[in-house]
Amino acid sequence: MNETILSKELRELDIQHLFHPYTNPRQHEQVGPVVIERGEGVFVYDTNGQRYLEALAGLWSVAVGFGEPRLVEAAAKQMSMLPFYHLFAHKSHSPGIRLADKLCAMAPGQLSHVLFSNSGSEANDSVVKLVWFYNNSLGRPEKKKFIARKNGYHGITVASGSLTGLPANHNAFDLPKIPVIHLECPHYYRFGLEGESEQQFTDRLIKQLEDTIVAEGPDTIAAFIGEPVMGAGGVIVPPVGYWPRVQEVCRKYDVLLVVDEVITGFGRLGTMFASEHYGVEPDILVVSKQITSSYQPLGAVIFSEKLYQGIADKAGALGTFAHGLTAGGHPVATAVALENLAIIEERGLVANAKEVGAYMREGLGAFASHPMVGEVRGDGMIAAVELVADKASKRKFDPVGKVGAYLSGRSHEHGLIARNLGDTFAFCPPMIITKSEIDLMLSMFSKALDDTYTWAKSQGLA
Ligand code: PMP
Repeated sequence: MNETILSKELRELDIQHLFHPYTNPRQHEQVGPVVIERGEGVFVYDTNGQRYLEALAGLWSVAVGFGEPRLVEAAAKQMSMLPFYHLFAHKSHSPGIRLADKLCAMAPGQLSHVLFSNSGSEANDSVVKLVWFYNNSLGRPEKKKFIARKNGYHGITVASGSLTGLPANHNAFDLPKIPVIHLECPHYYRFGLEGESEQQFTDRLIKQLEDTIVAEGPDTIAAFIGEPVMGAGGVIVPPVGYWPRVQEVCRKYDVLLVVDEVITGFGRLGTMFASEHYGVEPDILVVSKQITSSYQPLGAVIFSEKLYQGIADKAGALGTFAHGLTAGGHPVATAVALENLAIIEERGLVANAKEVGAYMREGLGAFASHPMVGEVRGDGMIAAVELVADKASKRKFDPVGKVGAYLSGRSHEHGLIARNLGDTFAFCPPMIITKSEIDLMLSMFSKALDDTYTWAKSQGLA
């Protein structure tokens, strides 16, 4: 495809001035950006007019698809009515109030209050501070440590990045900086021991959790945080019976259960929240991304009455709760969220995620027999295909990520955008996707996988 004059100009400016997150800067200087110009439904188009099926919904987030006019109207209406106001010092606004009310009504269990942010990372930073403030309020200042998991992803700011359990987010950044203990990643395929059943794997993880709390001292452990299905860490589906037993241990030792539903919230697993799907009632529920289909930046921490009361006691005595973000709960973002949630409900997108998600996973399941595929996994409308150098021994490629990056590149050539997380290829399409669009996605993936296999053999990798 010939590069347009606009594309060329943007490419040059981009390389000169735009520092890209999660990108190899030296490689970027050579290859430049893919400049996405517009989107419609499950497709996006670059400035050369090339169409791509967006099989990761942007960054796991565009639930209602691209180009939804109702969200544009909701934003425009709110912009002309009240383009900005904040929530500090007793001020409020209608979309913020209505969204807080709606989130508490939708959320599982007895959650009663909402603190807004602009992103998932900030929401998780707020979680850390809410929990610390709460325990200070209750007169137990030692109860401050978090338990998280290896390969978990909770963001990249200093506190949320500390909760994240991925070495690349820690090494060279001097993280973690907050007291956090990372337990075993709950991935049976990778970390189940020889001869260990999935049930025994769950038993071992739960024992590790309980032993850790007891060894550290329950008086020092404030909270457990986890994603119901790990996203960025490789789409890791927990082993059988895992979540209710995590909750049981947390309750036993008075450890708060924080469920990070930044990816799974609002239908991704075929229920409104993954907490319902896995049978848990968190003390704190974290959402972002699909709350606005990412048409606007927004995050939210939804927390229990018990926390609220503890925090309000101390903040009341101090004179204020000294925490807040200028644009947290922005009126345009919250207005867009309300409309987005209405669309998810009216169009039955949660049921679609369940039905078409099962269809997608079945289609991907057919690749399990491919010589380079170690595991196909997923739940609801999120899935991944893990590539391995050797199926029998589950040996990884050396170096990790090279084959995955090649597959990502080939997919792009075939008109498919998905994400390689090392050598794991992730799928999380907009929740509006149809079965025929899934067929198209699978056929593009199949071609890219075949190309990759041919190349990997030629390189002596497979
Ligand atoms: N938690 C989870 C589960 C996430 O997937 C992400 C983002 N991928 C975050 C938190 C951080 O969100 P943000 O990028 O908006 O800061």
